[in-house]
Amino acid sequence: MKPKKKDIRALTKEQIRQFFIENGDKAFRGNQVYEWLWNKGAHSFDGMTNISKSTRQILEDNFVINHIRVDQMQRSTDGTIKNAVRLHDGLVVESVLIPTPTRTTACVSSQVGCSLDCRFCATARLKRMRNLNPDEIYDQVLAIDNESRLYHNRPLSNIVFMGMGEPLMNYNNVLKAIDKITSSEGLGMSPKRITVSTSGVPKMIKKMADDEVKFKLAVSLHSAIDDVRTSIMPFNEKFPLKDLREALEYWYQKTKSRITYEYVVWKGINDARKDIDALLQFCSYVPCKVNLIEYNPIDDGEFQQASNTATDNYIKALEAKGFVVNVRRSRGKDIDAACGQLANKS
Ligand code: SAH
Repeated sequence: MKPKKKDIRALTKEQIRQFFIENGDKAFRGNQVYEWLWNKGAHSFDGMTNISKSTRQILEDNFVINHIRVDQMQRSTDGTIKNAVRLHDGLVVESVLIPTPTRTTACVSSQVGCSLDCRFCATARLKRMRNLNPDEIYDQVLAIDNESRLYHNRPLSNIVFMGMGEPLMNYNNVLKAIDKITSSEGLGMSPKRITVSTSGVPKMIKKMADDEVKFKLAVSLHSAIDDVRTSIMPFNEKFPLKDLREALEYWYQKTKSRITYEYVVWKGINDARKDIDALLQFCSYVPCKVNLIEYNPIDDGEFQQASNTATDNYIKALEAKGFVVNVRRSRGKDIDAACGQLANKS
């Protein structure tokens, strides 16, 4: 049996340069190929026009370029685009382009399915199948950048890791993908325009702080009371708020980067005065802002968006204490592209 060809994008630039040296070519050829793979997003060796035919054949004989394929693109009436992205092994994840008047944001997935069990999230109902590779994350960004240029006449401006999966449970690959995205040999994007969102894995938040990452951190908080949080995000039992707080304090000490808390207000779950007071207390630990996200129902009606009055009470209380609070309206609901709705329905 012929040995399986390697995915060339799993190689570092140095390894590709080495391959050429070993094949009696110049190391520089490796730089050219690397640029095709990452900067120009080449899908085939054939398209590498400044590489000789015989060299392309050598590449073809030794490697494959595993590439994602956008299987289906859906466009919402509000301009939001959702891509169903097929991976080389046939699995599917989703990513979303969210346009506003001033920016285009890509919301990308980090895992196929999710191993966490947030009870209000559609992705949680899919079993976690596997982690995405760095190139699979990178490709989602590239596809959205292309769509942004095509449909909105401007490049992608921001990235949020708020698609399927828990990015901190696929930390190494997320970091490698961000390296490529921010590198001048990739998209050259500023890390300040990238936000990694986590359900709150304390150990990994500390690791990120130690790694001195330059992107931003968002935490899906949803409740600052342990019992309530555990009832809607059961893994909170293992990672209680005390540990989360300690990790966030450590993060801020090391990075001086303000944290965003994502928070949905649900009827009968976290819409009482005690819930607001607990959030105010939690917000006092580390410099932060709060994004109140509109709830996107995921069918069985167990969770319902709280009344406007309840949401207003949150806003008033936070503002009175001087905290920044934004209300995030959902986008792309008609195509199931909003927060928590990514579940490979189609
Ligand atoms: N696992 C990561 C990233 C993915 S979720 C995290 O938890 O942060 C992206 C955001 O959507 C999270 O803040 C999540 O709590 C929120 N979310 C999940 N389901 C939702 C729903 N049905 N309506 C609104 N927001 C939801």
